[in-house]
Amino acid sequence: RQQQLIDKLEEQRRLEEGEWVELIGGRTPESAACIRERARAVRDEHYGRKVYTRGLIELSSYCKNNCYYCGIRRSNNNAVRYRLSDEQVMACCREGYKLGFRTFVLQGGEDLFFSDERLVPLVARIHGAFPDCAITLSMGERSRESYQALFDAGAGRYLLRHETADHLHYRSLHPQEMSPFRRHKCLFTLREIGYQVGSGFMVGSPGQTAEQLARDMDFLHYLQPHMIGIGPFIPHRHTMYAGEQAGSLELTLFMLACLRLAHPKALIPATTALGTIDPKGREQGILSGANVVMPNLSPVEHRKDYDLYDNKISTGEEAAECRFCLQARMARIGYELVVGRGDSLVG
Ligand code: SAM
Repeated sequence: RQQQLIDKLEEQRRLEEGEWVELIGGRTPESAACIRERARAVRDEHYGRKVYTRGLIELSSYCKNNCYYCGIRRSNNNAVRYRLSDEQVMACCREGYKLGFRTFVLQGGEDLFFSDERLVPLVARIHGAFPDCAITLSMGERSRESYQALFDAGAGRYLLRHETADHLHYRSLHPQEMSPFRRHKCLFTLREIGYQVGSGFMVGSPGQTAEQLARDMDFLHYLQPHMIGIGPFIPHRHTMYAGEQAGSLELTLFMLACLRLAHPKALIPATTALGTIDPKGREQGILSGANVVMPNLSPVEHRKDYDLYDNKISTGEEAAECRFCLQARMARIGYELVVGRGDSLVG
């Protein structure tokens, strides 16, 4: 039966919700090996053996939101807060450009300091200085006007994970003031404006079931994003989920392979969280159908303070400065780390 479901998924790129539950909930070591192999073949068919890199710049650890699982949530009084100045961001981009990066991802908490008056000129400045680079933003929920102004200033991509498509599960992870509908609306607005849009979810977040993962796959089918980022949930010591188990490597790799079969042309990163739960997580992610890595380009002195979950990796081979170590690691598993914009093939 697992084999039939994998065949159907590969052929039709979607399953019914009940079939997803069967595939995910009923997975075995054999079905996992099979789906990962198929996912590799599909990725190779569309993107070859190339792995794209993006330089990740963590702009601010201030956040007005209070997501129960996140280390930089508003109510975590232990969090160390920082925000990068324009000069620091430009210095990160210059450093990244020298290292060969042609895509910069500016990510941060939902920090009201980064109003349009501040963020639009910063994006325009990066765009002016590095016209051959793609600018990706991941700054949370904003108004249509704000997304439009940032797009007009030169940002072409936006990452906003939907986190979970199941509304009850969403409620158990976020306070009442946050709304899954608003988040979904943001994603469709971003698409309408013309951004390459990325969404995604955490794997193994507290209380998550196969039914909820099935809903995530259904939501992504409906959205058809250009990029899909998933990673294991990892507890943070100063959150109410401190005592929960982290999402497993095994389930994350299985979900990556499912995503590749359902979205053959999407850009799918092997995320930092995956690299955090296992020293070979990144490689395993690539071997399950992922095709992007996002090394950290933030100023070294602030890296430890973008503390989303415990033991988050940010130096060593994770760091952008160590691009050549990453290149060697990818070469060892038969993949080529490429610089360049790495646009999505999703139309
Ligand atoms: N503020 C932006 C937003 O909400 O999209 C971007 C920053 S947010 C911290 C980036 C991502 O970190 C979230 O989408 C979430 O999935 C992930 N994240 C936060 N806490 C996490 C945890 N404890 N384990 C794994 N991932 C986590």
